[in-house]
Amino acid sequence: MSFDIAAIRAQFPILSRQVHGKPLVYLDNAATTQKPQAVIDALVRFYSECNSNVHRGAHYLSDEATRRYEHARDVVANFLNANRREEVIWTSGTTEGINIVAKGMAERLQANDEVLVTELEHHANLVTWQQACKKAGATLKVAPILNNGALDQAAFAALLSSQTAFVAMPHVSNALGTVNPVQALTRTVREKSPRALVLVDGAQGVAHGDVNVQSIDCDFYAFSGHKLFGPTGVGALWGRYSVLEDWPVWLTGGEMIASVSYQDATWGALPNRLEAGTPNIAGAVGMAAAIEWFSALPLVEVKQHEAQLIERAVALGEEFDGLTLVGNAPEKIGVYSFNLNGIHPADVGFILDRQGIAIRTGDHCAQPLMKRLGVPGTARASFSIYNTIDEVEQLFIGLRKAKEMLS
Ligand code: PLP
Repeated sequence: MSFDIAAIRAQFPILSRQVHGKPLVYLDNAATTQKPQAVIDALVRFYSECNSNVHRGAHYLSDEATRRYEHARDVVANFLNANRREEVIWTSGTTEGINIVAKGMAERLQANDEVLVTELEHHANLVTWQQACKKAGATLKVAPILNNGALDQAAFAALLSSQTAFVAMPHVSNALGTVNPVQALTRTVREKSPRALVLVDGAQGVAHGDVNVQSIDCDFYAFSGHKLFGPTGVGALWGRYSVLEDWPVWLTGGEMIASVSYQDATWGALPNRLEAGTPNIAGAVGMAAAIEWFSALPLVEVKQHEAQLIERAVALGEEFDGLTLVGNAPEKIGVYSFNLNGIHPADVGFILDRQGIAIRTGDHCAQPLMKRLGVPGTARASFSIYNTIDEVEQLFIGLRKAKEMLS
C-alpha cells in the first residue's frame, strides 16, 4: 500500500467537520488521535453482532465475544513482538499500566533501593514512582536532560548503580517530542544495574514507529489505545513473562482467581491474574482494529510524512519573529512545542481555536519539566499521519493573527 494522504484523511469522518464555522485543523494528536472508520465500524459491529460477557458464558454469543477479545490480545502481542500472548494485560490505558507496575514494585522496594526516572516524564510516570518510593522509603533519582530536550545519556548512566532497583522512562516525550534511545538506555541499565527492572512508557511511542519489546529488552511497556487511533478507556501493559508471573495482584474479584473459600483465595494464571472484573471488551476489539489498520500503512512513508510536517513547522517557526521553539532534540517526532514572546499560551490556543485549529496549551502533565525549561507552559501542536503541510501552514497563519491581536 502506498501512502496516499487524501485516501487516509477520507477514512476519518471527523476530519471533514467544521468548528466555529471553519474547517477543522486537528493538531492535538499527542493528547488523543482521531479514529478511522475501520475502528468505528469494529465497535459498532461488536455491539450490534456479538455483545456478551467474555470467558464465563455457556452460550454462542459469549464464545464469539471471547474469541474476538482474545484475538485482540494476539494482535497486541504481535504488534509489540511479544514472546507470549499471556504477556499482554488489558488496562484502561498507560496510566493504569504504570500503576499496576508501581503498586507491585512498592511492595518489593527496600529502603536502600533507588528508582531512576527522567526529567522528561509525564506525571503518569513520575508521580507513580514518587509515591512508590515514599511508601517503601526508597529514593527517587531523576536523570537530567540537555537544554535541547534530549536526555543527558552520560548523566543517566552515571546515576545507575547496584542500588538501582527500577528504571522508568518515556519512549517519546509528550511535551517536547524527544525520542529516547530506549534500546541503548536499557542496555546501559543491564550493564550497570543488573537487578533493575525497566519500564518504558509507550504512550507516545506506539503511533510513530515500530515497537519491538524483545529488541528494546525492557521488562514492561505500557500504552493507550486512544493515542493509536483506537478507543479511549483501553490500553495494554506488556510485561516479560518471567517478571509478570508472580507480580503482586492489583485488583481482586472475578476472572483473576483459581479457587476461593471464605477464608482464602488463590490466584489464576496470566494474563487473567492481573485482569479482575469485566474488561472493556469492545474497547479491546476496537484497539485491535486500530492496530491492524495502522500496521497496514507503509511505515517508512508514514515516518517520512511526519518528518516533513515537523520540518515544515520548524522552518516556518524560524522565520516567525518572537516565536521560541521549546525542545529541539536531534531525535524528535511531530510534537511542536513553542511560545510566542509576551503572550500566554492559553491565549494563543484560544485564538487558534476560533480559526478551527485545535492545539493544546499548558504544562502537558509535565510540571517539573516545564520548571526545568524555565517556562510556565507551552503551546503544543502535535501532528499525526492525516495532517497535511497545508495544515501546518494554516497553523502559522493562525499564529500571525494571534500575534496581531494579542501583542
Ligand atoms: N505518558 C505519556 C508520555 C503521555 O503522553 C500520556 C498521555 O498524554 C500518558 C502517559 C497517560 O496516558 P493515558 O492518559 O492514556 O493513561
